[in-house]
Amino acid sequence: MEAPNPSTINFQPSTIWAALAQIPDPEIPVVSITDMGMVRDVTVSDAGRVTVTFTPTFSGCPALHVIRDSIEQAVRDLGVADVEVRSTLTPPWTTDWINDDARERLRQYGIAPPAPTGEGQLIQLDAEPTRCPRCGSLNVCMTASFGPTLCKRMYVCDNCREPFEGFKSV
Ligand SMILES: [Zn+2]
Repeated sequence: MEAPNPSTINFQPSTIWAALAQIPDPEIPVVSITDMGMVRDVTVSDAGRVTVTFTPTFSGCPALHVIRDSIEQAVRDLGVADVEVRSTLTPPWTTDWINDDARERLRQYGIAPPAPTGEGQLIQLDAEPTRCPRCGSLNVCMTASFGPTLCKRMYVCDNCREPFEGFKSV
């Protein structure tokens, strides 16, 4: 029996993706960075170098270096020695990249998930119908364009009077 030689372990991109799916969003721990659609590309070269390309959710988010470090660490934890993490803003991140499962978890967490950017444009200029994540009422009003970060808006529900955060669709 030959012992496996670590230098010849062939990492599959799917293995890397699975590890990245365990990394929570730095601002919203109930969803992962892959749920949010931040990881754009994973490549494994013949020489074993792993390159991960990600797009931060909003260029104004302060968590860029946190995400970068988390990605690098997660890949290294798999036993990969040669890791490169790239960030790209082209194309820019869009809320449409958030997967359906994550939208539901955002709602349960108390953050109104963003509407698809293509919806609602016929009627309103200020796009998305936002629902209260607690009672489901559409009877909400925006109290500030930006929440604690550039990524979110603050709302208050006219039905249950609860303030909540909503994603700005971009
Ligand atoms: Zn409500």
